[in-house]
Amino acid sequence: MPEGDTIFRAARTLNRALAGRTVTRFDSVFSQLTRAGGDLRIAGRTVERVDARGKHLLIWFSGDLVLRTHMRMHGSWHIYRPGERWQRPHADMRIVIGTPEFDAVAFSVPVAELTSARDLERNPAVRELGPDILAARFDAAEVVARIQAMAGEAIADALLDQHNVAGIGNIFKSESLFVARVDPFARVGTLPTETVARVVDAARSLMRASATQRPPGFSVYGRGGRPCRRCGTSIAHRKQGENARVTYWCPRCQAGATR
Ligand SMILES: [Zn+2]
Repeated sequence: MPEGDTIFRAARTLNRALAGRTVTRFDSVFSQLTRAGGDLRIAGRTVERVDARGKHLLIWFSGDLVLRTHMRMHGSWHIYRPGERWQRPHADMRIVIGTPEFDAVAFSVPVAELTSARDLERNPAVRELGPDILAARFDAAEVVARIQAMAGEAIADALLDQHNVAGIGNIFKSESLFVARVDPFARVGTLPTETVARVVDAARSLMRASATQRPPGFSVYGRGGRPCRRCGTSIAHRKQGENARVTYWCPRCQAGATR
């Protein structure tokens, strides 16, 4: 699943290509986006900006209209010059926003809705998000408090809960716990506040670096059975949590990780 840093980069790329431009063509396989017509017609509007909220990508049009998309597992947005060959099959196309200079194409995006700014803030999917891990202003203490309210949860699962903090996915869950040297399976209630704060801080540092610079190589994610870059111990991996997402960790560096 794309994480907050990926969505942030996608939003920045779309913003560069589309902001300030007039939409000349709008197509979608989602009837809720195209049938509206009238007041909700997108062609003719100007793209004001594109930004991200957690894993939600928001395209803001003139006249108080917002297109919210969520990538889930396989969705992505591409930018093409008009007439350029797409890199994914037409069958995967979900939305096309055409301007004279660029076309933005959403492939395999499962969630899309048009809304006003006000209704967007009322939407539970957005309203109930925790603080955005990538936001310029970030209330780390609030995130630590939200995580600590889930005392019985494993820290790795609490990091994935978007009500605690928005934007962290499976990759940076494992990576930030490694950097902070915390056992992914430790119950939140057993961890000192400063340890939870260290994990949150690691997640923010790693994800901001990934969002704004070239994505780094990973320390543990996807490296099961290979030597820890710090101590040489084999990286362990195991399914964890409700959705059985694979957690990677170093059993030695992340002391207490005995499973
Ligand atoms: Zn290690």
